[in-house]
Amino acid sequence: MVPRPHLIFLVCWFWWAPGLPTRTSRSCPPTTSKSLYYLTCTILLCTCQPSFPRAVPSECWAILPATSTQYGRIMLLGLCGGICSGKNAVAEYLTQYQNFRLLELKNSDFPHVDGDPRLRYKNDTVPRASRLEFETAESLLDFATKRWQEHWVTTHIWDATILDRFLQRPFFLLVSVDAPVSLRWKRFVARCQRRQLEPPRLEEFVLWNDKQLYEKDVGRAVLTDRAQLRLFNSSSSLDELHTALRALNLADEQRLRPNWDQYFMELASLAAQRSNCMKRRVGCVLVREHRVISTGYNGTPRHLKNCNEGGCPRCNSGEGGGLGLSTCLCLHAEENALLEAGRERIREGVILYCDTCPCLTCTVKIAQVGISEVVYSQGYNMDKDSAAILEAAGIRLRQFSPPRNGLIYLEESGGT
Ligand SMILES: [Zn+2]
Ligand SMILES: [Zn+2]
Ligand SMILES: [Zn+2]
Repeated sequence: MVPRPHLIFLVCWFWWAPGLPTRTSRSCPPTTSKSLYYLTCTILLCTCQPSFPRAVPSECWAILPATSTQYGRIMLLGLCGGICSGKNAVAEYLTQYQNFRLLELKNSDFPHVDGDPRLRYKNDTVPRASRLEFETAESLLDFATKRWQEHWVTTHIWDATILDRFLQRPFFLLVSVDAPVSLRWKRFVARCQRRQLEPPRLEEFVLWNDKQLYEKDVGRAVLTDRAQLRLFNSSSSLDELHTALRALNLADEQRLRPNWDQYFMELASLAAQRSNCMKRRVGCVLVREHRVISTGYNGTPRHLKNCNEGGCPRCNSGEGGGLGLSTCLCLHAEENALLEAGRERIREGVILYCDTCPCLTCTVKIAQVGISEVVYSQGYNMDKDSAAILEAAGIRLRQFSPPRNGLIYLEESGGT
């Protein structure tokens, strides 16, 4: 019986060999077909040995062509988190069900804040074929850069400087995984029991945890704080975790690059940060053919005292939202954006993005200047009336809420 790794390499080799000269010149350093053949034979011989390494060296993989075309774009997910937070379980799910492959560093024991052997963890549940090993984080990153159109995951990022390098790449997403310390301790105890090691007391585990997360220079809290997506893994079983991860779909490319709606809505939200109105922050962006024509935020007109410095008596009176609007001195974000763009620059096809649904007075102005579409994120207290006016004026109205960032609970309910 031929061992399984042999079969895989033999099939790959016979399929791939005819296109060798062109394929290698595209993605690998110049090398001859003879040396490639030699390398493949070496791999085959290596796999015969009982001491076959737990992962195929990255140099061997580097010569293979990119075979997958089912993904639109490369994705490298970095998973970070405390002891027994579940990052390895997430990586395992991705390799098992979403065609990710695990990238690891050879020196995976570094850096340990404590020499205790119980803290050493080797992810042996991910099959060899789904993992690759590298000498350095740089070579890992270089490898992923060349292997476009494929999906990779790593749990081996420890250093803030290295993380900076990873975060510069458009295909990298940092995901943190966390769980209550009491639950993580229970998972750790179960792991020790499986490995026939003596489990630590809760207090001992808490001290390890504090060291691992907060120790100066090596603490991982600096990494988890920078995660673009934060998962709270309070699930009690692997099945529950898998269900939640399926619903979350970490491989969604939009997490890497916002679509146009998301992009302009986030610009509108950024404009809102400049608001000086005591009542509410609102931001607005006018867009034509995916280009910003103007931006606006709400506040008192120029040369008048800012609303948040007492400029508008109505806004500073503390009455409920929407009351006394006729006495308000603050210009709305939409008004400011429309004034900034000017009538002659607003033509057919202009979209108004606003993080809040326009009020009635803004709606009539939007209709008058000839905006084609209004996209808003949050509702206001006169949405129905505004919608009716826009509909009568032949202006499309739709709501778009950017994907939620921050903490996501991984629970059976669907992981949102
Ligand atoms: Zn105001
Ligand atoms: Zn006001
Ligand atoms: Zn308004």
